[in-house]
Amino acid sequence: MNCETCGLTVCPAGCPNARPREAVFTCAECGENVLEGEGAFRIGEDVFCEFCVENMHFTA
Ligand SMILES: [Zn+2]
Ligand SMILES: [Zn+2]
Repeated sequence: MNCETCGLTVCPAGCPNARPREAVFTCAECGENVLEGEGAFRIGEDVFCEFCVENMHFTA
């Protein structure tokens, strides 16, 4: 059965009926949750969110 709001069988993130994504990791740098399907970066035991990984990039 399709969603009454967006008309799709699987609601996109913009639909208020979308299933909340689960937090899979917690970023070791900022403490934000890294959600299912989001990009992340692992260094050893630590997992970093995309935002923190971008901040690690710099020009020497
Ligand atoms: Zn929907
Ligand atoms: Zn982070």
